Amino acid sequence: MDTVSPLEQALHAARALVLADLVAAHVAEADVVSLVEESVAQRRWWVEQWPDGAPFVAGLVAQDVQDALLERYGRWPLCPVCGSGGPHALDIAPELGPDPHWVCSEAGVRVAAVGALGTALGGGTATS
Ligand SMILES: [Zn+2]
Repeated sequence: MDTVSPLEQALHAARALVLADLVAAHVAEADVVSLVEESVAQRRWWVEQWPDGAPFVAGLVAQDVQDALLERYGRWPLCPVCGSGGPHALDIAPELGPDPHWVCSEAGVRVAAVGALGTALGGGTATS
């Protein structure tokens, strides 16, 4: 039995968290999932150079996917908090740190942890 390294666990967790948020926003199509894979592959290299950065990987993958989606799909994830004004995307905070959250920089609020966007979007995602 192989022991899974903390690095591998962090990459796994990042992939799962960002995929959960994509599913919550109904954009987890095959080509979108491959964007996540691409980002995880790049961040694997990055975190191998800097293992202390492992807790930051989820936030970085989320930002990579957000950037990639902006070109192909549009803004993601859209802010579920602001009722008025133009549609705008949530940001990741901290940009480089542990425990990343989606925040609305216009309203200045934390919306959800990365991986928990479903609850903020009211999708009724069951947490089993
Ligand atoms: Zn907002």
